[in-house]
Amino acid sequence: MRVVVNTSTCVGGGQCASSAETVFTQDDQGLVVLLKADVQGEEAEAARLAAFLCPSRSITVEE
Ligand code: SF4
Repeated sequence: MRVVVNTSTCVGGGQCASSAETVFTQDDQGLVVLLKADVQGEEAEAARLAAFLCPSRSITVEE
């Protein structure tokens, strides 16, 4: 599964990094930084949850 983030719509907060800490982190301003674009298994499940939880719909997952 492939993960894509849109930093131009990210509003910070870090729900993504909290729910999938090996896939997402945050920069100094709190904006999302993608650590890993191609994920499988538990990381894919965590990335799906992060996409669901993101308040600004800044995370897209492509199967
Ligand atoms: S959950 Fe969404 S809005 Fe919040 S930091 Fe992550 S990508 Fe940005």
